[in-house]
This record gives sequence, C-alpha cells and structure tokens, in this order.
Amino acid sequence: MKLAINGGSPVRRNLFPGNSVIGPEEQEAAKRVLESGTLSAFYGAWNDKFYGGPEVRALEDEWAKFYNVKHAIAVNSATSGLYCAVGAIGCDPGDEIIVTPYSMCASAVAPLIFNAIPIFADIETAYFCLDPAAVEAAITPRTKAIIIVDLFGHPYQAQEINALAKKHGLYVIEDAAQAPGAMDNDRYAGTLGDVGVYSLNYHKHIHCGEGGVVVTNDQALAERVRLIRNHAEAVVGPKGEPNLVNMLGFNFRMTELEAAIARCQLRKLKDLLKARRSHCSYLNGELSTIPAIKPPATRENCLHSFYLHTLKYCEELAGVGRDIFVKAVGQELAPMELRESDGARVWSGYVTPLYLLPLFEKKIAYGKHGCPWTCNAHGREIHYRKGLCPNSEKMHYKEVIVHEYMMPGMTRKDLNDVVDAFVKVWDNRQELKS
Ligand SMILES: *Cc1c(COP(=O)(O)O)cnc(C)c1O
Repeated sequence: MKLAINGGSPVRRNLFPGNSVIGPEEQEAAKRVLESGTLSAFYGAWNDKFYGGPEVRALEDEWAKFYNVKHAIAVNSATSGLYCAVGAIGCDPGDEIIVTPYSMCASAVAPLIFNAIPIFADIETAYFCLDPAAVEAAITPRTKAIIIVDLFGHPYQAQEINALAKKHGLYVIEDAAQAPGAMDNDRYAGTLGDVGVYSLNYHKHIHCGEGGVVVTNDQALAERVRLIRNHAEAVVGPKGEPNLVNMLGFNFRMTELEAAIARCQLRKLKDLLKARRSHCSYLNGELSTIPAIKPPATRENCLHSFYLHTLKYCEELAGVGRDIFVKAVGQELAPMELRESDGARVWSGYVTPLYLLPLFEKKIAYGKHGCPWTCNAHGREIHYRKGLCPNSEKMHYKEVIVHEYMMPGMTRKDLNDVVDAFVKVWDNRQELKS
C-alpha cells in the first residue's frame, strides 16, 4: 500500500473532531454578562471592587471547591499566574529558581520578571517532568523555589520534590496548565505544591479564550497574588499592607465575561477528561503493537490528564528516522475541526529545550548589558548551551512524538483511523528509506 507521502491515498480525508468544548451553556453565560452591561468590575484601588465582580468571585469559589483548596485567584492567563506566584513568594533579584527546559516558555521565563535567575534542571524520561535527582543537584544557597510542570498532563513527583523543598526551605510553584484534573493519590495536580497555576487559554482542556487560575492553601500567599494581580502599588498603602516586597503594578485581571464562561467549562471538565482518558487508553493498547512505539506511562496512583498524547519512538528498532516517520503519519491523517488550517496534529518532539531560546542563550532580557544575570545581586556565572540537559534534548530531538488525535469528541472510528495511519506507515516504512 503506497504511503500518502509518496503519492498514495491517505487513510483519512475528512476532518477529525477538534476540541469543541464551547456550547449553549457558554453562550447563555456570555449573554447574561453582556446583558448586565458590566464586563469587568475590578477597581485597582482598596475598596469592595478590589477583588473583582460577581462572576470572577463565583468562579474562584467554585474552582477552590472543585480542587479542594482554600484559595483560588482568577487571572488573565497562566503566564500572569506564574508571574504572580514568583512575586508572591517574595523572591529577590539574584535568587535562583529551578525550572524545566521542557515546557511552554512561560514556565522558565517567570523568574526573570522579578530579576530572579532561572536554573535549568533536566527531566526524567518516563513522564517528562523534572527529575528529583537533577533538581537536588541544582540547589545552591541562592535557590529560592522550584517551578515544576505537570508536563503533558502527568503530575510531577510530588513526594520526592516536596521533600527536597522542605529540606532546603524552598517554595514549590506548580505549573499545572496542562494538568487540570490530573491526580496524585487523592490530591489534584496544581494543589501538590505551595502554589499552583492553571490555564484557560484556547489550547487547553477547558478554556474561556484567555485566562488562568492560581491556587494555594496559604492565606498570605493568596493575598499577595491578589495584590500583584491588581495594581498592588496603589492598594498597599490604603490597605495597610506591611509586606511591600514585589508589590508593583500589573493588571492581570480576568473579565466577567471570561469568568462566566470558565464557570461553565469547569462543570464540563470531568466528562471531558473521562473521554480523553478512555481514548488514550484505547490508543495505548492499539499502538503498542508497533514495536518501535512506546505509549505514555502513568505513575502508580496517579491520574493523567493527557493534554497531549506522547509516544516514544525508537529509531534503532524502526530503521527509519523519527522525523520522516512522523511526517508520513501526518500525511495519512486529516486536520481537525476548528484548526483546519493548522494541518495534521502530530509532531516530532514538543518544544526546543528552553535554554536554547535566544533570551537564555544570549542572556539578553532587560536592556543590553545582561541584566539580570550580570547584576551584582547574582554574581555567579550561568551558562545556557547545548548539552545542558541531555534527557530533554534526547526526548526532543530523537524520541518524543506528540499528537492531539484523542480529543473528547473522537469516535472509535476516528481512533481506528489514527491507529491505521501509524500501522500503515510502520508496515510500509521501507518506502521511507528511498
Ligand atoms: C499553556 C501553558 C502555559 C501558559 O498558559 P497561558 O494561559 O497561555 O498563559 C504555561 N505553562 C504551560 C506548561 C502551558 O502549557
């Protein structure tokens, strides 16, 4: 059977279901807010509007209840949420924060916003999260925190990482943008560290356009996040806030419109996750018949959220390179509804290890003189260069395949087409050699 990449007919021509999570409930909610005439009710001042309007507060209450956590603070993105968290822990210029190179860029850029220094530790290769041993090796007297990511929807190794943090007096900031509803035993990802961050952007499991939520059980941290969200500098005086560290002005407020939509989305999360998990479990079984492909593992007593379905590819077993294999699979598959112009939703690797971004490699952030790396407050030379985190590089450049053909709306027929595409390319991989 001739492969589509060589001019054969593809396994699938019509579109796959996309992440269609917006329905009549969200339309109703948006209409309710529009009709109220108040699209945002925040004041950047110390009065009863400082904490936002009714939809924002209701979302925060419902979010805190769902995740069984004391405080939930709505923001306009997970990126903003991470910035709030870094500021709230009171980090000083020159403090070091341990980060992962294998994540969306905000997970590693956040420290820089408060002139702290991101220190990259490597990932482990079973679940792609920070490796506790690598984190321990990266700890210095200057380390203030760890920003840990539940990558692809799998919870980080909370027991080991939290023990390290406790031993060295570090904060754990959990980036759970990809892991809403993931669990480690009876606790939700996002609530495993000192402060957690979720995303509600368009690419995530549930969304409201753009948005994020910060959670914590620490009352003082929660209040500092709320201050950083909403022009702290104008509020701390009238409020009588004694701790003025990092209380400078941002506007990270979520609108009433987004909050109303996010409330509907939260109610759908469990069902949406159930579908993703069932689809991934089916794919795991079917794709494991291909010797060179290893489906994603889930650690004991954990629940995965499958933001992406992540496979590991063994080039030695396949006899053909990963990139051409993935390209051939993509050619067998159709794009997804809502994202038709994006083409096939299957990729080689995930993101370039972040220390290779120009921002890090060239150490140009604030101005042109290397601030904050060259600031007196830091004073230790840091190098970001190829080879820094070998596991991340191996996963990205050699082994990882990610795809999105497990969206909640997929049918068994859709899933079988995906399996057929992989199997067809596998069976005919000789064709890729010429
Ligand atoms: C999407 C994502 C973010 C950023 O989310 P926004 O809401 O777009 O700011 C941060 N971290 C990770 C791991 C993400 O996947």
